[in-house]
Amino acid sequence: MPYRAPVADIRFLLDHVAGFPELAATARFAEATPDLTAAILDGAGRLCEEVMAPLQRVGDLHPARLENGIVRTPPGFAEGWRAIAQGGWIGLAAPTRHGGMGLPQTLAMAVTEMMSGACLALQIAPLLTQGQIEALSHHASDALKALYLPKLISGEWSGTMNLTEPQAGSDVEAVRTVAVPKGDGTYAITGQKIFISWADSEFIGNVVHLVLARLPDAPPRHPRHQPVPRAAQHPRCKRRSGCAQQPAGGQP
Ligand SMILES: Cc1cc2nc3c(=O)[nH]c(=O)nc-3n(C[C@H](O)[C@H](O)[C@H](O)COP(=O)(O)OP(=O)(O)OC[C@H]3O[C@@H](n4cnc5c(N)ncnc54)[C@H](O)[C@@H]3O)c2cc1C
Repeated sequence: MPYRAPVADIRFLLDHVAGFPELAATARFAEATPDLTAAILDGAGRLCEEVMAPLQRVGDLHPARLENGIVRTPPGFAEGWRAIAQGGWIGLAAPTRHGGMGLPQTLAMAVTEMMSGACLALQIAPLLTQGQIEALSHHASDALKALYLPKLISGEWSGTMNLTEPQAGSDVEAVRTVAVPKGDGTYAITGQKIFISWADSEFIGNVVHLVLARLPDAPPRHPRHQPVPRAAQHPRCKRRSGCAQQPAGGQP
């Protein structure tokens, strides 16, 4: 059954239930005019119907596979990612000074909802990247922001969330991965992560893993997040996610 983006329903919910007009009336979101909001929802609807939805079945028929150490994604997923990235959809709510559009997260969530309905398997790549953009925007140093945010927002790189471990699923605080400061602003990270979505692909330039880890002096249930570029992972580690020993804010 073809996917039809519920643009009119979402518009109704934003305008009459979620209070979007009040949000758009604030100085911070002055650019979220009714015209721009309508154009964004219409554009997202077209992307979902024409580009993403057809990939849903392709993903079922030709799932991702590991070939000689390289993750091969389903046919068309690379083009789908590029359409999402080049359309600026990853950075809809991201800071403008790093290349984002600075629009309300509420609007970005509406777009996410449509993209999830169209092709969840592909959509989770920009979703996780957006999560990482959000985390870095709030908590990273200016140097880390300058290094990571423009590339994550443009889709040149993608981001993951490395939380789950064999003994830590729902109980995230049970993580055992540790981040040991090396005294030069970088950390040595050791541990095992599992179930990491979009941890690798054959077409994204670099994958930045945001790894949940404990500092040596952390209280038993108090982990910390650390960005880890794929290219800086421990050279002896064959896994694309998991063991990592690299600079926290170092070279990608
Ligand atoms: C498709 C997919 C993609 C994923 N992508 C990522 C990713 O990108 N990054 C990442 O870090 N992780 C990822 N995960 C892992 C995901 O976050 C975990 O699977 C999830 O947190 C559940 O953990 P678990 O599988 O260990 O199950 P468990 O936590 O062991 O749960 C097993 C069962 O016990 C139930 N249960 C657990 N705790 C309680 C409780 N206190 N009370 C009652 N019932 C309970 C659960 O509801 C479940 O039915 C992914 C998983 C999947 C399936």
